[in-house]
Amino acid sequence: MAEKAREKTKPAEKPAGKPTAEKPPVEKPAVEKPVEKPVEKPKEKKPPKVKKKEKGAHTRYKVDEKGLTRLRPYCERCGPGYFMADHGDRYSCGHCGFTRYKRV
Ligand SMILES: [Zn+2]
Repeated sequence: MAEKAREKTKPAEKPAGKPTAEKPPVEKPAVEKPVEKPVEKPKEKKPPKVKKKEKGAHTRYKVDEKGLTRLRPYCERCGPGYFMADHGDRYSCGHCGFTRYKRV
């Protein structure tokens, strides 16, 4: 029984003499979870496609009852097969750069 008495006398708590510098509980910066943005469904609506200019060899010809007519002249330098581009007031060859002005 004597031991029990000793236990009682034993100071269970910390000695009051030393001032315990209690730090305020440092709040841990909450680990921010990468905010998952609500995945927006890609809108299916698309702007109406702009029709591309028709291209191809067939655009340089015109077929009617008279037969085949070439809508643009051949390049004088490059010869048949090299059409010249119509620039309104002039024709120009993309192959050699030859330019011929339209006679007004
Ligand atoms: Zn040419």
